[in-house]
Amino acid sequence: YYLCCCVDVAMSGIDTIAVFGSTGSVGTSTLDVLERNHSNYQVAALTANCNVEAIFQQCLKFKPATAAMADPHAGIELSRRLLVADSDTVVLTTTDALEQIAADDAVQTVMAAIVGFAGLRPTIAAVKAGKRVLLANKESMVVAGDLLNQFAKASGACIIPVDSEHNAIFQCLPESNRCDPEKGLQAGVSTLVLTASGGPFREYTALQMETVTVEQALSHPNWDMGPKISIDSATMMNKGLEIIEASYLFGVDESRIEVVVHPESYVHSMVRYIDGSVLAQLGQADMRTPIANALAWPDRIEAGVAPLDFIRLGSMHFEAPDTERFPCLALARLALKKGSGATGVLNAANEVAVEQFINGRIRFSDISRVNTHVLQSFAVTTPQNADDLFRLDQSTREFALEYVEQSVSSPA
Ligand code: NDP
Repeated sequence: YYLCCCVDVAMSGIDTIAVFGSTGSVGTSTLDVLERNHSNYQVAALTANCNVEAIFQQCLKFKPATAAMADPHAGIELSRRLLVADSDTVVLTTTDALEQIAADDAVQTVMAAIVGFAGLRPTIAAVKAGKRVLLANKESMVVAGDLLNQFAKASGACIIPVDSEHNAIFQCLPESNRCDPEKGLQAGVSTLVLTASGGPFREYTALQMETVTVEQALSHPNWDMGPKISIDSATMMNKGLEIIEASYLFGVDESRIEVVVHPESYVHSMVRYIDGSVLAQLGQADMRTPIANALAWPDRIEAGVAPLDFIRLGSMHFEAPDTERFPCLALARLALKKGSGATGVLNAANEVAVEQFINGRIRFSDISRVNTHVLQSFAVTTPQNADDLFRLDQSTREFALEYVEQSVSSPA
């Protein structure tokens, strides 16, 4: 059912794109790739949360027809500044502005690069409207994988993964296995292998991890990313979220998703076949490669990424993940076994815990404690529709916050 989206784009020649989260790490990399390929793409809309200065400059440069901010005051300020600058960009300020843009007929492709659960509403709107959805916002899939797949099937939307690991798997899978999770893995495919850098604390003892600072947790050894995913990489919750994301994206049971630590981050993930073949996708640790792949698929475009120099990189290493020091990995598998409500619960707990850590209210090692407690103790219900998902997310957040306030002591 993905073919219709590609045909639309091919017939008009120019692909019109809305970039959600345009001021973030993935958003700015996306605009960089679009600028390099400006004759094939038109930026139709840009959205952000509250960074008025960054999106203002982007609007002047890319001249989108519309823009929107999640924060209403920021939206008014952006509108005022664009008016003074004599820009033609219209700022939508209604509460459903992001969903309106996602479903706009003038938009063919949506880059979903908002961070966290906040990206879910516009992603649902884009999928329901049958868009070509380039999915960086992994939390959407983690929380609403079943529903998003149902909506995509009904609308004809195709969801192309941007997360580097899933984009790597997308490239290594047989053609018939892409964009159609209902099929599950094709007969010849054995397992999916997600690679993980291991994050900044790969070699730390559990005791050392008790006292790490926010600054240390934010500095990823290989990738330059936004704060939330950087902390997730440090706890390896990111790899856990990616197990869940892969399970929904490719219609595969968690038992067929392996995780291997590869500290150099050159192999972005792999697919094993039953004849013993392993197909891997390699490249620099630069998000512009998966972004360009998702934008142009099934074609290829320039991404501005330097080629890999195999002679200089010399050797690559692989090791097993340590689920005792990084318990969030096992929590993700447990959540998948419990079902779609539980993956949303784990995501909500983690978003609360990461925010509390960044704000200095809990220790790094408390993140996995909060996630474990909430996943084990919260009474999970199975969401039947999008409203259920939003209610479940809200009540889980309240439960997680209460646990933090009552049971987790502040760092000294
Ligand atoms: P950033 O924190 O760098 O950027 C987040 C973007 O979302 C910003 O544009 C921000 O706007 C916007 N935003 C934040 N909160 C809201 C909100 N409540 N409503 C609407 N917009 C909001 O994140 P990243 O680019 O690092 O990550 C984006 C997504 O991509 C995440 O889901 C992440 O897991 C995934 N991803 C990221 C990778 C990376 O390399 N960074 C790699 C693979 C996946 P503002 O600037 O105004 O705050």
